[in-house]
Amino acid sequence: MVHTLAVMTSGGDSPGMNAALRAVVRRALDRGLRVYGIYYGYEGLVGGGELIKPLTWLDVGKVLQRGGTFLGTARSEQFRTPEGRRRAVENLLGCGIEALVVIGGDGSLTGALLLASEWPQHLEKIAGLRPDLRPGIEQIPVLQVMGLPGSIDNDLSGTDMAIGVDSALNHIVRAIDDLSSTAASHQRTFVIETMGRNCGYLALAGTLATGASWMLIPECSLELHWHRRMIECLDTARKTGRRHQMVVIAEGARHPDGLRMEAGEVRKILAEKLGLEVRLTVLGHVQRGGPPSAYDRILATRLGVAAVDLLIDEPGMLHLHMVGIQKNRVVSTPLGEVIEKSREIQRLLDAGDFGQALELRGEAFRTMLELVESLTAACPAKESGGQGRVVIMTGGADAPGMNAAVSIAARRLLDRGISVLGARDEFYGLIHGDFIELEWNDLVGWMGRPSSDIGTARSNHVGEDFGRVAENIQKFNIKGIIVIGGLDTYRQVQRFVDMRADFPEFDIPVVLIPASIDNNLPGTDLCIGSDTALNNIVEAVDKIRDTAGATRRAFIVETMGKECGFLAAMSALAAGADKAYLPETGISLAELNRDVSELKRTFEAGNRMVIYMRNEDASRHYTTDFLRRLLEEESNEEFEVRSVVLGHVQRGGSPTAFDRILAGRIGAGAAGTLLNMMEKGSSEVLAFGLKEGAVSSCPLSEALGQVDALHKRPKVQWFLDLFPIVHSLAENRPCCREGRKEETLGSSSGKA
Ligand code: ADP
Repeated sequence: MVHTLAVMTSGGDSPGMNAALRAVVRRALDRGLRVYGIYYGYEGLVGGGELIKPLTWLDVGKVLQRGGTFLGTARSEQFRTPEGRRRAVENLLGCGIEALVVIGGDGSLTGALLLASEWPQHLEKIAGLRPDLRPGIEQIPVLQVMGLPGSIDNDLSGTDMAIGVDSALNHIVRAIDDLSSTAASHQRTFVIETMGRNCGYLALAGTLATGASWMLIPECSLELHWHRRMIECLDTARKTGRRHQMVVIAEGARHPDGLRMEAGEVRKILAEKLGLEVRLTVLGHVQRGGPPSAYDRILATRLGVAAVDLLIDEPGMLHLHMVGIQKNRVVSTPLGEVIEKSREIQRLLDAGDFGQALELRGEAFRTMLELVESLTAACPAKESGGQGRVVIMTGGADAPGMNAAVSIAARRLLDRGISVLGARDEFYGLIHGDFIELEWNDLVGWMGRPSSDIGTARSNHVGEDFGRVAENIQKFNIKGIIVIGGLDTYRQVQRFVDMRADFPEFDIPVVLIPASIDNNLPGTDLCIGSDTALNNIVEAVDKIRDTAGATRRAFIVETMGKECGFLAAMSALAAGADKAYLPETGISLAELNRDVSELKRTFEAGNRMVIYMRNEDASRHYTTDFLRRLLEEESNEEFEVRSVVLGHVQRGGSPTAFDRILAGRIGAGAAGTLLNMMEKGSSEVLAFGLKEGAVSSCPLSEALGQVDALHKRPKVQWFLDLFPIVHSLAENRPCCREGRKEETLGSSSGKA
């Protein structure tokens, strides 16, 4: 059983490392462990002394929203030597540290594994040299290591995403969006270099999410005259109406002979061959900076908690593992395997075995690459002709990312020679024959647009107009329908399908794509739009937190979500709120009583700010305003109470990188299946989604059967398993109050 652990961040910093530190420290303290923090990575471990210090609950307060790592990180040459590592062992023994949690990239994890494997040899040496360390030598015969993937490069095997990748991707996507508007004004071409070392993930995902025109990554094999294809494509696109072009190059991209490809070279080739003004932007370290995204905070928190739990709950096991996320589940993989597989990809790329390297990068990487290859073409692969049309509609409340889904699904179909119409305002477009012709080049710029350009509506009373829908399906030769929307839209489609006996025109295939900020749809772990909403909420809560000042304040922040608590629960986790009221658990009078007492104790102990999240439908009677008045009444003017209803800002703005990629993956999958069904003459109605990391589908009737009809949410919701973490890591846990009181008393007596 581990009693003492140490945590450190190492190698390149990445956004979310602080969230991981907070989770490791608080979880470990909560479960009764002693915790040390090692400053400046392996430099601190070798140096010891002041660089290895105990950490308390409050030491990791207010760090969740900060980029970088408060422990600092470094690259250590000393640690690469056996002598340096022996000093590291001495320092660990001196503090009685039995387990080391290392947050970093493959270099840092390699170092940790080496240290653990050499441990017995070092002990032998130290036993002769340092008799003072004998108790430690006897008590700690092995070192346990838990690695957490912290790197923006996403080059580690054993995890689908590393901590920091999502934040870096959001920086890239925002930068390309911003550059696109200036590029469009001047009809310029830009070359944009992204980080990622030898992994092309950031460039690939950035290209998909922004609709960039061309991409160069280390995983793509290039023919000798690779630039001819690029020039031809960009030139054709320009002639067919693309006013500006974005070329994304990963820093690890290479020439066919293996030599590094410089972004400046690409700029020069483009300028010379196209005769255009071409600008180069190297995004550099801005990709690492800034507050972590909601996804990174949640990922870091889940992994940090899991690392500590594994160390405690599997006492008989020697842990030399990395915890990562695979298919939306936390998984632990032996460090040796992680390091070996990550290096294997590098070896394969060096040897020019791109097929095998891609195999190891995983299914999501390959799907994205295949998508980017077809979408970066200057025009569709097939000319449209006589195969009928597909209609795309967006329904219900709008969600960020709907336009991205329309763009990718439509381009997928256009590429195969199918004409695509956008129905204005969901079923109303079908009733009135009000369509927009969706064209290849126009759609490229839709990836980052907020809301839905074809319009959304709630057409629940469409029943009496089904006859006109049938007429228009025939008149416009519609052979398939793609519907992007929320639960009401799903139900509306079911009504449409139920009318097939009366209208044989409805006997065409239909695919549904889940888009709702509420994340309350069946058949998917995540809906398009929910990540953007989550980030909007978390940014707002960060700003509220910034107002912590002289007064003591309790905030009740109301989120959307209808009767699904996803936004309230996950934003509480990502923003470090003290609690969340969810519709799934409701609010009872007894709970409110406890909360009032708890709040009083918290402020008495010297805290200055408490944040409670409340889903808009958590309770019919205990509304946000009621809670505010209740807490205010009970405050005895010891603290202020404020309520903040975030409202529609949650659904606004450009979609996050995650939502765009989700829209891309599901949109492409759904469109591909629709095409197959059209070819086979099938008239199935399938609901698509992302389940356990993969795009999948099931019949709409089956999907609707998974819904709790009364509460309009799935009967099983995965995120509820994470909800207990909110309270267990909260700022104001009773176990941390004593520390705060001492701190307050100490500082006030100091002033006196
Ligand atoms: P990252 O963890 O981001 O991949 P680095 O590759 O720079 O970053 O590694 C961080 C640190 O880990 C190095 O400065 C070094 O101290 C240690 N390290 C990396 N590789 C090894 C190794 N093979 N042996 C011992 N220590 C290593």
